[in-house]
Formats: sequence, structure tokens, C-alpha cells
Amino acid sequence: MSPSKVWYMNARARRFLESTAIKGRQILERSGWLDRLQPGDIVAVKTHMGEAYNVGYLRPVIIRTLVDLLTERGLRPFVTDTTTMPYHPWISRTLAMDHLDTANKNGFNQGTVGCPIVMADGWLGTDDVVVDLQGKGNYLNKQFVARAIADADALLSVAHFKGHPAGGYGGSLKNIGVGGASKRGKMNLHGALAGDKPVIDVKLCPGRRCEWWQVCEDCCPEGSIRVTDQGLEVDLESCVYCFACANLCVNMAGFNAIQRFDHLPTLGRRIADSALAAMMTKEEGKAFFLNFAMDISPSCDCYGWTDTPIVNGLGVLASYDPVAVDKACIDMMNAAPGLLNSEAEEFGALAAGAKKLNLIKGKDIEAQIYGGVANGLGSADYAIEEVPLDRSQAAINTFYPEVRARKLKGMYAKNHPLKGLDTASFGRATEGVTDPHHPKK
Ligand code: SF4
Ligand code: SF4
Repeated sequence: MSPSKVWYMNARARRFLESTAIKGRQILERSGWLDRLQPGDIVAVKTHMGEAYNVGYLRPVIIRTLVDLLTERGLRPFVTDTTTMPYHPWISRTLAMDHLDTANKNGFNQGTVGCPIVMADGWLGTDDVVVDLQGKGNYLNKQFVARAIADADALLSVAHFKGHPAGGYGGSLKNIGVGGASKRGKMNLHGALAGDKPVIDVKLCPGRRCEWWQVCEDCCPEGSIRVTDQGLEVDLESCVYCFACANLCVNMAGFNAIQRFDHLPTLGRRIADSALAAMMTKEEGKAFFLNFAMDISPSCDCYGWTDTPIVNGLGVLASYDPVAVDKACIDMMNAAPGLLNSEAEEFGALAAGAKKLNLIKGKDIEAQIYGGVANGLGSADYAIEEVPLDRSQAAINTFYPEVRARKLKGMYAKNHPLKGLDTASFGRATEGVTDPHHPKK
């Protein structure tokens, strides 16, 4: 089997047309993917619009630039994501209305992205289709795929490549594997339907002497938690392993009485299975994957904060193969030197060639890759094709259609901003200028 092709444009930008947003569009055009679609096809543009107060998510202009291209080609794009599990007490994306509100505050709305934004799994995350993986899954037999993504004719995944606390890293596989799953699909891939539970040590909980005890009870959507003066009681039968209490207890209370249990080897493979389920809703060649490897923070855009990047921006990578494009990003990240004042420094991962996220997370973060190879979704064997920037006059006309200063000429003639001013009176001549010519208007 030949290696999967990964198109690549680097992250440097020194001149016109070198914007990362423009590179995203140029790489998509170069891939030829759009020629496989029919005018009128509905295209789900799956991205992550960021948790409240996260500042690392992909900027709306990146999505807008891609949407403009799809629209110009006669396609019908919509930008989409799904409702989340609670994950932590203050999560702002568990209901469609909350997710849309957060997206709007983060700069994503129909006005900024140029097409409708649709919560693909509906109000509470139950609008989905059940996909039978036909025995191909590593762990999953069936998965819930968000209906709008499943029903779309085509899928364009636009992922932010970075680290991730549970999945090890986030890229294309996570964007469609987790982000393409409905809320109950997320419960499934996080192990709730397989019986996974948080790790609980009631002896560590001081009961109502913990200042967070009320939040601890309130954040559990199942009503599984009771905190008394004596301590903690958790009904594990009703718990669906949503992480909310664990993230509170570890990150805010600091008692570690409830923790997530480290299930990356399994979770990564379940994410790959879930991604396969999303792909099974599409005809061959109707899905395409763009990874923007920039602002590479050690954790994900689901957090309400963004740490400093661990390596410099790498660029834009694209493929028909979500496994290959993720693997290429991981390898490129590892080959790059780490950055000071980041977790790369904190965890001794500064050297070029050091496996950055493996060292930072203290484990092998490639479980999604292994899972995606094992279930037949894609290949870890890839060949990079570097895409030259299109600097033609046609490209300039696409992105910079007007010389806007042209309009100023007539206005300046009538009302120049410096008109009538004694310009020489505004300061001394620049050092080294011996014969200044002050403008006379
Ligand atoms: S956050 Fe932790 S320590 Fe505080 S009440 Fe809940 S379980 Fe107990
Ligand atoms: S007890 Fe279970 S369902 Fe309740 S908040 Fe904790 S993990 Fe979520």
C-alpha cells in the first residue's frame, strides 16, 4: 500500500498572500478535493470554536476563507460542532444554545464565517444516527454520529493541532471522532457505556469542609454525588463518567478525592473508532482533513485557558487520510525544538527530536494513530508534498480585489488630512535627515 499523501505549507509569513488563512484555501484548492463534489452538495465544515475564555482556538477568518471558497464553487457549507459532556462545572457548551452563545462570543457567527452555524447533534445532543462499525472497531461496535454531520454530503474537517489532556493530542481524528459524536456518542467513546467510572478515594474528601462541596454536588447531572459533614458518597450505578466532579476536585479543590482514571490507550482507540463511524457516513473521497498546526499549546481548546505553545507554529497540513495528517503533525512537532517558558521546558522536552507530548504527558500519546491504523481508517505511513504558494496576479485578485487607496485620491484632493497645517511645527526633523521636505497641502 502506498503512503498517504499529506500536502503541506509552512507557517512563516513575511509578505502578502502568506497568511495562514490563505494557505488553508490554497492547499484545499491544490488537493483537488473540491472537484470530487457536486454543485449543491451540503458540506459540514467541522471545527472547534473554543471554550469560554480559551484563546488558542482557530480564528474565525481561517474558517471564513475556506467557506468563501466552498460557496464560490456552488457548494452549500455550514460550520458545525456538537454539544459536549459536562467535563467540568463551568463548561459553556453542553446545550446548543450555550454552545452557540460561546461561539458567538469567540467571534463565530453567520456574519463572520459566511454561512449558517449548526449544532450538529441538536439541543441536548440527542439528534444523531447510530452507525454500526461492522466489526472493524478496536473497542466500539456502534457509535452515535451527530445527525447534521452524518446527513451532509461531504465533510471538511478543519482542526487545530495541539496537545490534549485525555486524548494526548488533538487533530483530525479527535475533531471528527469526538467532535463529530453527539453527546451520547461522547459518553460512549469516553467509556461510560462500557462501565468506566472515575477513581474515587472517599477518605481524601473532607466533606463540607471543602469549600467546593456545593459545586461538587451541583455539577453532577446525574445527581450521583452527596457531600455531607462526614464525607463523600457517590452512587456509581448512576454515574456516567462525565469528568465534571473529577476536574473540580483535582483542579480547584486539590484533594484528588475524585479523579479521572488514565485510560488513554483505550480512549485513543475509541476516538479512532468514533472517527471511523463518522467517515462511514460519507461516500469514498467525500471527506477531507485540514490541520492547522499553530498555537500548539499542551492542552486543548475545551479548557477555559490556553498555555504558551510548546513548539513554534508548523503550518497547514492536509490529507484525505485523517491518520496520516495527524501523524505528520506529531512527527513535525517532535522534530522541532521546544520553546522556553512552556511545558516543553518544564518537562525536559526542549530538544529537537524529543517526543514532546510523550514527555509532557508521561505516556505514549499516539493511541489514536494506532487505533486508526488498526481499524482501517488510515495509514501512519505518509509522504509530504510541499505546496508552493500561488503568488500569481489571479491569487492577488482573489484575496486583495481592490487597491483601496485609489478611492482616497479624490477624497484627499477635496479634504486632505494635512490640509492647511504648518507641518514643520509638529516636531524636529528625523535624525540623519539633513534636508527635510515638509509636506505642503
Ligand atoms: S471537590 Fe473533592 S474534596 Fe471537594 S467535596 Fe467534592 S469530592 Fe470532596
Ligand atoms: S459522579 Fe459521574 S456523572 Fe456525576 S459528575 Fe462525577 S463523573 Fe459526572
